[in-house]
Amino acid sequence: MNHISRADAAADGRSEIRKTTCYMCACRCGINVHIKGNKVHYIEGNRDHPINKGVLCAKGSAGIMQHYSPARLKKPLLRTGERGEGKFKEIEWNEALDLATEWLGEVRRTDPRKLAFFTGRDQSQSMTGWWAQAYGTPNYAAHGGFCSVNMAAAGIYTMGGAFWEFGAPDWEKTELFMIFGVAEDHDSNPIKMGLGKLKERGVKVIGVNPVRTGYNAIADEWLGIAPGTDGLLILALVHELLRAGKIDVDYLLRYTNAPWLVIDDPEGAGHGLFARSEDGTPLVASRDSGEIAASSTPGIKAALKGRFTLADGRSATPVFELLAGKYLDPDYAPAAVAERTGISAATIARIADEIAKAAFEREVIIDQPWTDMKGERHEQMIGRPVAFHAMRGISAHSNGFQTCRALHLLQILVGSIDCPGGFRFKPPYPRPVAGQPRPHGGACADTALAGPHLGYPRGPEDLLLEADGETAERIDKAFSWDAPLSAHGMMHMVISNAHARDPYGIDVLFMYMANMAWNSSMNSSSVMDMLTDKDENGDYVIPKIIYSDAYSSEMVAFADLILPDTTYLERHDCISLLDRPISEPEAMCDSIRWPVVEPERDVRGFQSVLLDLGARLKLPGMVDEQGTAIYKDYADYIVHHQRKPGVGPLSGWRGADGTKTGRGEPNPDQLQRYIDNGGFSQVHLPAEALYFKHANRAWSDWAIEHGLQEGPVENIFQLYLEPLRKFQLSAEGKAKPVPPEHHRERIRRCFDPLPCWYPPFADDGSEADGYPLHAITQRPAAMYHSWGSQNAWLRQIHGENALYVPGAVCDQQGLSDDDWALVSSPSGEIRVRIRRMEAVNGSTLWTWNAIGKRAGAWALDNDAPEATRGFLLNHLIDELLPPKGDGRRWANSDPITGQAAWFDLRVAIRRDPDQSGERSLPATAAQKSPVGPAPDTVAFSGGKKP
Ligand code: SF4
Repeated sequence: MNHISRADAAADGRSEIRKTTCYMCACRCGINVHIKGNKVHYIEGNRDHPINKGVLCAKGSAGIMQHYSPARLKKPLLRTGERGEGKFKEIEWNEALDLATEWLGEVRRTDPRKLAFFTGRDQSQSMTGWWAQAYGTPNYAAHGGFCSVNMAAAGIYTMGGAFWEFGAPDWEKTELFMIFGVAEDHDSNPIKMGLGKLKERGVKVIGVNPVRTGYNAIADEWLGIAPGTDGLLILALVHELLRAGKIDVDYLLRYTNAPWLVIDDPEGAGHGLFARSEDGTPLVASRDSGEIAASSTPGIKAALKGRFTLADGRSATPVFELLAGKYLDPDYAPAAVAERTGISAATIARIADEIAKAAFEREVIIDQPWTDMKGERHEQMIGRPVAFHAMRGISAHSNGFQTCRALHLLQILVGSIDCPGGFRFKPPYPRPVAGQPRPHGGACADTALAGPHLGYPRGPEDLLLEADGETAERIDKAFSWDAPLSAHGMMHMVISNAHARDPYGIDVLFMYMANMAWNSSMNSSSVMDMLTDKDENGDYVIPKIIYSDAYSSEMVAFADLILPDTTYLERHDCISLLDRPISEPEAMCDSIRWPVVEPERDVRGFQSVLLDLGARLKLPGMVDEQGTAIYKDYADYIVHHQRKPGVGPLSGWRGADGTKTGRGEPNPDQLQRYIDNGGFSQVHLPAEALYFKHANRAWSDWAIEHGLQEGPVENIFQLYLEPLRKFQLSAEGKAKPVPPEHHRERIRRCFDPLPCWYPPFADDGSEADGYPLHAITQRPAAMYHSWGSQNAWLRQIHGENALYVPGAVCDQQGLSDDDWALVSSPSGEIRVRIRRMEAVNGSTLWTWNAIGKRAGAWALDNDAPEATRGFLLNHLIDELLPPKGDGRRWANSDPITGQAAWFDLRVAIRRDPDQSGERSLPATAAQKSPVGPAPDTVAFSGGKKP
């Protein structure tokens, strides 16, 4: 047993240890929570936990202050003042749930599209998505659209997985590690532990980031790249590797579509698509005879170069020939990209050489036989020990999808995906598009959707459009011509589209843990206006807002009805393989949170509330034939829900007696088994399945046996991405459906089936328009988005933020440390305090993310430094770009996935001629705190006296 009972602890005065999962960031480490009575006294890392192995960061240990935050909501609230004021009255749960049921029920009976249900950084998306599907609205997503969907979607489309929770570097075996644009609050402890291992072994770490903080500060080499040019740097590395012939040809032939033939028929509707056999199998040409054959032909030696004639007389060329022709172009030579990226040609050439040397001169060989999906036996596992990791820094641009694809192309060309020393998939990944759903829409009154909202379109035929072929079906316009592959939805567009009633108005906006009235919106000031705007009748344009959060965030003041959530120590949660897994490359893992302390407020876990609402609304799957609730609460759901027979939210201790893993009937004792094991389940893969999972028979069999797959799924890495070419054909008017005229040029230009680079949209004319500098945010290691500012310990690390300005820009503008400066963009102007810094790209300003707060929110005083001197760059960003030549305002997003292009921001800076006044601007009026003021002093004792 890993814990003792509260009764025993109370009887002998000892504290007890309860093992659960941290939620101070998205990393999900195991923690030991020391409890005395019903009080948390201390939090430490769980040494047995697969994620952190006992390591705890500053945020994790400060969880104690999060749990006792004075900003915690205490009871359901009903708005009494105007929206945004923060005036509420407390109501009972029954009244709150009755009201929510009335609002939601009316919408479901008439037009379910009029509910927009979006969740922020919660970790229960498989459950919330299932609920929204049963409700029947097409308008559901989580926060991926404004976070890192470019990274996730590019990875899934290219190779069936991506960085972070989908995979990890082989820390033990890699010989060179390169990290691009990684935030310090994501995968935090595993990366720190991994970097420690690399340092111990003397492995070189190269950091690519405009700003040298965090991981980049301890990198052996830092490349201070210009924002939005990572794709150009990566493709220049590809150019050099191709030029030197340093690519893994055998890997390309075995695992990628490099030999597949692409039709060359410029006037035809098939131009640029794969040549296929009658049964749809891609074709290749025999290297020896030139004969055309199915790519699946056993033993065929396919050509990577040449021009071949298909049976119907059309010409075709292997993908690799197109690829080599494209990237060997002088436009991708190091000298051609040096000025734009800010990285010298000599440095780019040297790093390409270092990659080649690590990959091909220090290969890692493991004497482990394995069998591939074609049945061929391999006696060894041979690895190319170069590992990469990347995150939001390269993806939150309007060219982010193609940049992320370019990075995967680089990895694949040197053969370093899921091999010893390279990048490794974590179970349940890889999951290629072939095994993923398509998006579902088609809302009807009182009816569930036919399938999950979010998916991976294979071409224009999978878009969610009205009958006119143009109007978006979803309120965020995901899966429309605006952003066809928006696999995570576009949460950042919901409020502005609902306010504009484009494509339609909504009745209820229902959100969970998403601070859209502040740091989670691209233009916080405008979004606050939209949430409070009234129509000609004096009614709010967005009529009803239901919001659930544990804390008094800025968004709370803008809701009509508040459903107060618990803290992470008071709730059940499920870190599920159906959702955002915590597996390690060598083990399938999932975990739980459970109430290690009981709430002392009248609050309820949001997922339990959602199930309660589902039962009141009589949603399918949530009530039985008599209309009685199937699930008592979220814990009951976690144990008894089955997504398909035998497969549920948790993989461990399934079956009536708890002896099955992955597949098995529900086990009523399952949660206790997790608790007894420290809050997690970990099952190791067999040695034969540890690498090459994209092509490994042992992995496929194991994944099927353990409920991760229903059958074998072919995973050929897609260097050339045919779905993008299908969209181009539509834009060229050669295939149906044809997009509206105003979308065509963008699709033709940006939807290149081979990874490409184009300037971020905000760069068009920015310098000429007087905005010569970039401005970006970095996430501090000690904060997780806006949460940290209510935390008495973490506030002492980042109580306010400054704008860091390169020395040369300071000199040019006459700026010194602590001066106040005016920073402007096409969308507005802010007043901020500056600090001089040299370890930053010379054309880039930056600050810490989400430190600035609105007075009154988070139980902060009106004169708290976060509210007076802190600031957000969000006030300078807009969901829409300035009008271009055609008069239209395009979304400030990636045109392929719709990812919010946060880091495309262009600005100008000058010294404020009026240095008086210690306030950043804009100074948003204080909101009334619905939880009252925080105490002046927060004291916490070790257990004797509070
Ligand atoms: S890295 Fe994140 S999950 Fe892990 S201890 Fe720190 S805050 Fe908690």
